[in-house]
Amino acid sequence: MKRTGIALLLAWVLLLSACGEKPAEPFRSEFLAMDTVMYLTLYGEAGERASALVQERVEALEGLLSVTDEGSDLYAANHSGGQPVTLHGETAALLERALALCDETGGALDVSIYPVVRAWGFTTGKYRVPGEAELEALLEKVDYSRVALDGGALTLPEGMELDLGAVAKGWTGDALMELLAEAGVSSAIVELGGNVQALGARPDGTPWRVAVQAPDGSGYAGVLEIVDRAVITSGGYQRCFEQDGETYWHIIDPATGRPARSGLTSVTIVAEEGVVGDALSTALFVLGREGAEQLWRERGGFECILMEEDGTVAVTQGLEDSFSLYGDWVDHPLEIIRK
Ligand code: AMP
Ligand code: MG
Repeated sequence: MKRTGIALLLAWVLLLSACGEKPAEPFRSEFLAMDTVMYLTLYGEAGERASALVQERVEALEGLLSVTDEGSDLYAANHSGGQPVTLHGETAALLERALALCDETGGALDVSIYPVVRAWGFTTGKYRVPGEAELEALLEKVDYSRVALDGGALTLPEGMELDLGAVAKGWTGDALMELLAEAGVSSAIVELGGNVQALGARPDGTPWRVAVQAPDGSGYAGVLEIVDRAVITSGGYQRCFEQDGETYWHIIDPATGRPARSGLTSVTIVAEEGVVGDALSTALFVLGREGAEQLWRERGGFECILMEEDGTVAVTQGLEDSFSLYGDWVDHPLEIIRK
């Protein structure tokens, strides 16, 4: 199963046009990037020119961060055989940020999970269920705290490999918000495979309305109103396969090396920074509701929507007025998580 970006974009369009006043015509474009489709909706005269800059910027970042592209920094790191490698400034800056977020989530996010992710076939799409002994051996190579980063100099212990898949799109979104503002775009919404990032408000000053996907494939579960925020969703439904009646997904619990089964089916983070939203959406999916609530209370700096296996939707209090259930989901239990 792949991400359903087209459906998400259509939802905005429907919602936008359902809201009375007709906004100025945006410049829209889409292109393939980072293994998914990227959709841009840019308002202001600079839109068309900025769209070309966006594509260049995304391709440059992909060139640094891809695990499969032989010219990337990550490829060099993952084939370094224990020797130090010099990273480009931006790769080092992202990795430093990501390592801090691994720490803040108690290792629920672990950017050294790549050997395990690959064993399950999530990199190539050649899915398989690894055996217990294989996973145990691979987990010995997973521990972000052994990644040594000193400025641009990275040393990975032999056999260890990095995967920035859980944070790269959020980082990219942040870079694009900066680029668009500098290029003179006043108002924009960018979607990159499950990540939505908004620059400013809609041109008429009202919030963007972003649809949140139902994890059971029934369309949209909710609608969120945002201004200048990243809305980032991690869900087991986004990339998964079935074998012998079991479903396995791409978000791995670093404690077990298996797809995280925490009772959550989807986590949406609302944050100022995409990189934080992206890291936390993955981490909270691993942590489950209790751990997620604890991190929200103790760390703060984000709001979230948690969807549980029994259909309950729980949202943190900062979203109480901006989130509502939608369509088939209006009758689902909605709980507010308070401080
Ligand atoms: P996301 O879609 O942002 O939740 O990121 C999921 C991707 O990050 C997966 O496709 C893997 O490449 C990688 N990944 C899976 N589990 C973890 C984890 N616990 N920590 C860090 N990266 C992970
Ligand atoms: Mg993520």
